[in-house]
Amino acid sequence: MAEAKRALDEGLTHYGPTEGLPGLREAICEHLSLFGIKAGPEEVLVTPGASFALFLALKATVGPGDEVLLPAPTWFVYPSLVKLVGGRCVFVDLGPGYEPKRDVLEGAIGPRTKAIVVNTPNNPCGRVLSPREVRLLADLALEHDLYVISDEVYKMIIYDGMKHTSLASVGELREEGRVIMVDAFSKAYAMTGWRLGYLLAPEALVSQMAEVQRALLVCVPPFVQRAGVAALRGPQDQVREMVVEYQARRDLALKALSEVPGIKVRKPEGGLYLFPDLSAYGVGASTLVSMLEREHKVRMMPGDLFGPGYGYFVRISFCRPRHELLEGLRRLKALLARLGHARLG
Ligand code: PLP
Repeated sequence: MAEAKRALDEGLTHYGPTEGLPGLREAICEHLSLFGIKAGPEEVLVTPGASFALFLALKATVGPGDEVLLPAPTWFVYPSLVKLVGGRCVFVDLGPGYEPKRDVLEGAIGPRTKAIVVNTPNNPCGRVLSPREVRLLADLALEHDLYVISDEVYKMIIYDGMKHTSLASVGELREEGRVIMVDAFSKAYAMTGWRLGYLLAPEALVSQMAEVQRALLVCVPPFVQRAGVAALRGPQDQVREMVVEYQARRDLALKALSEVPGIKVRKPEGGLYLFPDLSAYGVGASTLVSMLEREHKVRMMPGDLFGPGYGYFVRISFCRPRHELLEGLRRLKALLARLGHARLG
């Protein structure tokens, strides 16, 4: 915040380079080196948030009628973005455990498949890909000439000492120009309203995407970018403290859910969400979520937004303070108890 104010006082209120301020592109490269990614500033494009970076990535790689693999559960915005560029979504259900399996993914690849959207840690299920799984996805993309669009916005929000493995850390994928990694300041630095993100891609694709960005919005406001430099180069204690707190909230929420009969939920290794299966109650997630909002003033997201096959799941965010989170879960429990009794007659 202080750095953005300073930048405003310095008059950084005009157009800036479309690709991003050189200082921020360099700071991003330094940051990425912490994740085993060697990158030069010319491979970085600063964008207004990860969402716009994802749009640019799809626009650059997917044409009308091309197919995009979306391993499900998948963040509900990807299908909209794929449609926006004229592509077709191919949902590939990962099944229980959400483990990417080669035969399942390969079975969904056809002559028009151009890209796969990977998200680790995953929204909504919190799955963090292991180095072996990252390698599997990279090999698949290399063998089938696919682009990997890797959304890693939760890469700093990982629990129990686990490590993030970036798709952009796979040398061959970078050498073959097959990976576009997307990241943002939104989650790690709680800067959702600043609209600051970036992507890492081969230089030729960066130029192509920069042309679209130039035409649509010229650049991310330079004073916002200066705040990004301060976030990356400043002390990281607050990020660590925030992750410790999120982990505690995750554990509290898991404990509360474990006391509700019939709920199946996987412990998320990262991200900000729980994705329980409530099929034991036999009420579709959309109905359940609207009842919860209308009658109990609690908001959750219905699972069907995250891919076919998740119509009895709900996404619960554990971003809110502990007392609010526990109160929301208490109300969910009360509603489920009522529904459970009704079902039992
Ligand atoms: N990617 C995922 C998986 C998200 O969950 C979100 C936000 O919820 C975004 C991207 C969007 O990030 P940004 O706010 O930087 O556009």
